Parts: sequence; structure tokens; C-alpha cells
Amino acid sequence: MEDPLALVNAKSGPTTSLVTTESAMATNLTFSQGQDQQSPTSDVNIFVAAQRGDVGLIRGLIESGRASATDRDDQNITPLHWAAINAHLPACRYLLEQGAEVDALGGDLVATPMQWAARNGYLYVIQLLIAHNADPTIADSQGYNSLHLVTHSSSIMPLLYLLHQPINVDSRDSQGHTSLMWAAYQGDGLSVELLLKHGADPNAKDDAGLSPLHWAVVRGNRMIIRKLIEKGADLTTKDAEDRTPRDMAVELKSLGAWKRALEEGGMNEYGVKRGKPLSDRNTKIAIYSLPTIFFYLIFMTLTILPWYTGMLLALAEFFGMHHIVTRVLLNNSTYTESVSTTPYFAGIISGSMIWVLFCWFTRLVQQTQSHSFTHLSFALTVGLCAYNFFRSVTLDPGTCPRPTSDGELKSIIEDLASEGRLNGQTFCIQCMARKPLRSKHCRVCDKCIARSDHHCPWVWNCVGANNHRQFVLFVTTLVVGIGLFDYLTYAFFSSITVPSSPSDISPSCLLPDELCALAAYDTFLVAVAAWATLQLSWTIVLLASQLWQIARQMTTLEVSNLGRYGYMGGRGGQSLAGQMGHRHQGHRAAGGSVALSGVDTEDTALVSGADTPGGPAVHRHAGVCAGCGSGFLMNLLGFDRFTKGRAVDGLTRANASNNPFNLGLVRNCKDFWTAGRELGVEYDKLYDIPPEGFQEAKRRREQEEDEEGLGVGGVGRKGGRKSLFMGFGLGRASGSRGGYEPVSQA
Ligand SMILES: [Zn+2]
Ligand SMILES: [Zn+2]
Repeated sequence: MEDPLALVNAKSGPTTSLVTTESAMATNLTFSQGQDQQSPTSDVNIFVAAQRGDVGLIRGLIESGRASATDRDDQNITPLHWAAINAHLPACRYLLEQGAEVDALGGDLVATPMQWAARNGYLYVIQLLIAHNADPTIADSQGYNSLHLVTHSSSIMPLLYLLHQPINVDSRDSQGHTSLMWAAYQGDGLSVELLLKHGADPNAKDDAGLSPLHWAVVRGNRMIIRKLIEKGADLTTKDAEDRTPRDMAVELKSLGAWKRALEEGGMNEYGVKRGKPLSDRNTKIAIYSLPTIFFYLIFMTLTILPWYTGMLLALAEFFGMHHIVTRVLLNNSTYTESVSTTPYFAGIISGSMIWVLFCWFTRLVQQTQSHSFTHLSFALTVGLCAYNFFRSVTLDPGTCPRPTSDGELKSIIEDLASEGRLNGQTFCIQCMARKPLRSKHCRVCDKCIARSDHHCPWVWNCVGANNHRQFVLFVTTLVVGIGLFDYLTYAFFSSITVPSSPSDISPSCLLPDELCALAAYDTFLVAVAAWATLQLSWTIVLLASQLWQIARQMTTLEVSNLGRYGYMGGRGGQSLAGQMGHRHQGHRAAGGSVALSGVDTEDTALVSGADTPGGPAVHRHAGVCAGCGSGFLMNLLGFDRFTKGRAVDGLTRANASNNPFNLGLVRNCKDFWTAGRELGVEYDKLYDIPPEGFQEAKRRREQEEDEEGLGVGGVGRKGGRKSLFMGFGLGRASGSRGGYEPVSQA
């Protein structure tokens, strides 16, 4: 068998080596040449000054007439090139003001200053040059335009910015590669997604007949393969040597990634859609109601059969239920993937509630009538619990608004870039929208959630600003309800005389005789009570941490991030790893990993600090990994907050004074209850922290409203009366929020 490595190199050698060694070297070469040649001849010349970003020196040279902004060194490189490649923004600005030619071609590659900046992913230099009418479509001697080069840099925000400039997303380099092919080859999932969102053609072909899908197979990144197929990439497309992407995967021994990608997209390895037995809607209904049925079977099994066979069969039934849901109804190939997108866990909760209620009606109410107050409390608690559970599931957790037009999107990007803060903290690549403070993009719900707490599979929804109160009430009433149920069950068994004849007591029972007799007397009730009590373990932990976080005005997300980044100090994700906590690294080809480490951004370096480049394929998961065994379980039980992201470290560093949202215990709780009214914010549109602080901003706004109401005669009084009237209902909310609307509307 031929070495797969040789195969790739033989096929794509020239192209891959172009970006990995040659082109990268070319930059370094010119760079060092520049320095070496200039330094000895004279210690002060404009090229060295531009490299250092020394605006004072450049100014001195130009004003004294010893140099000009349009000077070129012996490689035809201008000072603007040197300032751009070193990201010296003030120097670039000054040189442009002094008349530097914005699209000057220079260096070995005959490139513009913007191409030098694009290769390194310097967003703000690119933005400045574009503002001075730089042309992004110019190609260098290798045929790369700024879009190709910024794709090579793996920097997502500069790529986003360039995609909103007048440049063809499918423009080709000298070998016919589009930016999408480069991104697929480099394994940049976010770049691939971004390019596809901006209309890149998933079926374009390069000069060798390779499609983006072929290139994704070369990298063997299953997420990218899946994204391309979802966007309509042709699975049967053939290259010049008559190979489909699948043939290539076989040759390169990356068939595993290929199969996984297609399976996740609901297909077999040849791209044939695997059907589900029921329609989407009926699948959801079936999955939701299945636990109720199976719980009855399980509890009845325990009742009818002796305990040892009953336990085994009950376990088998539980597994059977899981099998039906994942392998039959969802037609998955594993037991854990994608169940959290279904109402399976919500079904388990409501199934448990139904059988607890059943036991209460059929046994406890009749037998323990002397505990009327406890019964009343239990009824109330169950009612509240069910209602808040329903509300948590059905309420919108706080979807953040998306721009309604391309023009609005472009102006958002332009504004953020000109403010110098276009990054993963302020902009969501998946939603293509501004990202409010404290929000998070949920991959399950596929939207940004305002003041996101966590995605909770048990309520089949995210927990965010709009349903957090209902969620906490649900968990609280759940804990209280289980407690009351256990108490009533205890009272039930105390009130009856259990026949404890030796014949009722199984000789093999491990429990003490009395307990065994109780269990034999009403196994169904004991089993339900035991199941309910089991749930106490994780619900108590969940409730305690929720209450603690509410008192500190923090979310689960912020607590788990604190250990990594400090309060709200998350870095703007520039790459897949930075943004998603997920990284595929170390392609087998040595050249490939050199390329990767060469274009590594600060973020990926941060996440993958311990990885050694060049080793065999390293597969790392950081953060939540809903697909893998123990992580899945921890996530489900809500314990992952204590294991992921060094949360313990985070808690010790949770210094309340760093939190601009912190109002103190009582008002934090009020703010939680009113979903932001105490702070006077709408979390789904909160983009900035007022410089004077939230309290001062709110006070000032209310004062302004008051003055407005008193000052302008008739209209003012009308407004005043309105707020008085509305004061009985929701008036306070709209009153305190009004300040964010234009004054004319208030
Ligand atoms: Zn988002
Ligand atoms: Zn979610």
C-alpha cells in the first residue's frame, strides 16, 4: 500500500507547500532582509522606523525632508508595507495621511500592504487600508488576493470583515483554489461556516478537479465534511483522476471521519439518507411519552417479580427504552449523540411526576388523612412544580435579535471594527449578529441566548434571562415536593400494620426484615419513592449552586469561565478552538502541522498549550463534550460545572467587586426575579456597560424621565398619568426600559 502521505504530497504538494514553507518563508525572508539591509547603512531611515512603528521618528524624517511616505527600498517595499506587517496602526494612519500609496506593490511577491496585513490577520490595519480605498481584489505573484491570504491566517474576524467588502467570495488563486477550499484544507471549521454563509460555492472545482469536499477529506475534519454536505456539496463529484471524496478518504485512511460526518448528517457512508420511522413531530411525541410507559413497566416488574429477577429485568427495560429512543426512533448509531435535542429527558421528568402523583392519589391520600396540611402543601408544590416545568420548557429563554438586512449587518460590522472591538465577545459568527453582554451562543438551540445560564436537557430548553426564574422555581418545588412525598410515604407505612409473617419475607432479601416486609407489602410505592429520592441528589446540588450564583449575580457559564478568563474577560474567539473549545490538530503530514503552528492564533495556542505539534493525530476536547461517556453523564447531572473550566479555581477568584452587575445580595435577587429590571437593562439588547455604572445610569434615566413628564405641559401629564395607570401592571418595566428607546417615542 502506498504511503498516504506521499499520495497527498504527490497530488497537492506544490499547493500545500506554497503556504506552509515557501510563502511563509518569503515573508520572513523579505522581513529579515529589510532589517539587515537597512540597519547597517543608517540607523535612522523611514523603513526601520515604520517597522518599529515609531511615529515620532517617521514624522521627523518626513518633516525634515530626509524621507517621504512614498519612498521605496531596494526591494520596492514602502514604509506602509513595513508598518502594516507589524500591525502598527498609528504609523499606518500617519503614512496614509502623508500620501503613502495605499495599493503599492512591493517585495518578492509583488504584494500590497493590505496583503501583508491580511496574511497575518491584522483586522484593524485591513480596516484602515480599506477605509483609504485599498483594493482587496489585487492578486500577488502567487495569485492570492486579500481574501485568500486572510483565510490562510485562520483569523475569523478579519475574514468576516473582508467578506463584507466588494470581493468575490469564490475568487480563485493561480491554481484555481477558492478560499473555501483553503479553509477546508486548513481544518478551520468556523472559516468554512462563514464562507458558506456568505455564499461560497461548495461545488467549485480547482484546476485538479478537486472540490472543497475533497480538500476537507485531505484534512479529515468531520465537522467540515458535515458542514459542506449540509450546504449541498456533491458527494459523487470526481477529480481529474476520477476519484470521489469517498475514494479519497479510503486512500488517505480517513474513512472514519467521513463515516462519522455522514452519520451525524443522518446518512450512510454513500450519502443515502437514513430515514426515521416516524415524522419529526411524531418522533418528538413518542420520545416524550415513552418514559411514562416504561416507568410503569419497570415499577410493575419490580412489583410482580421477586426482587433479584425484578431488578435485572427493570434495568433491562430501562436500557430497552434508551435503545428505542436512540437507535430506533432517532436512528442514531450511538447511544448518546443528539438525545439532548429531543424531549427525552423532559419526558423522564414528567413520567416520574405522573407516577408520583398516581401513588399519592391511589394510596397516600386515603391512608394518611390525618396529615391534611402536608397533603395540601404537597398538592400546591406539585402544581407549582408542573406549571414552572411547563413554563421553563415553553418560554423563549431570551433569543437575541439578529440584523434584519444585509445593510444593517454591514453597519454593525463596520461600527464594531471602527471601535476596535470586532471579536468573538461582541459578535456571533453563527448568528451573524451582535452578541449582547452575558449572552452565549447555544449550539443545541442554534441561537444566542440573553444572560445565558446553561442549556438544560431536562427542560428541553436553554435557561436564560427569560425563563431562569421559572427554572429555579421548578427546581425548588421539585426538591420540596420530593421531600413531602417521602414524608407522606413514611407516614403511610407508619399508619398501617404490615403483616410480617415469615412467608412474606424473602429469605434472600438483603434488607432488614421490616423493610423487606414493607417493600413486599407495596413494592410499587417503595420503588417510586426510591426513584424520586434518587433525584434529590443532583437536584439539591443544582439548587444550591443556582441560589449561590443568583446571590452573586452570576450565571453558571460565568462561574465556569471565571477560572479560565476572569470575570467576563473572555477572549474574542479567532478560531474554532478559541470559540468552541474544540480542536482537531496535528495532521499526519509534517508539513501540515508546521502550517498549522505557523498560522496558530493566540487563542488556539492558549487552548492547546500542552499539545506538541507534529505528533500523530491529536484529538482534543475541551469544554462540554456531549458525545463522550463520563462527560455526558456529568453534563446530564449538572455536575460538569464543577469539573469543567477549573470552576473551583473560579469560585475562589470570584471577587464580587470585579462584577459590574453586582448590586449586593438583596438587589441581585430582585434583579434575577425581574429579569433585569433592577439594573434597568434588557439583557437581549445589552451591549455596553455604562461608564458610570448601571445604578447611576438608571438613576439618571429615571430623573430625565421625571423631568420630561413634569416639564412639557399637556403631553407630559398624559405620560405621567399613563405611567401611574400602568404602575398597577407592567408599567414599571416599560418605564425603566424606556430610556433605551429614542426620546421621541417615550
Ligand atoms: Zn449566536
Ligand atoms: Zn440551548
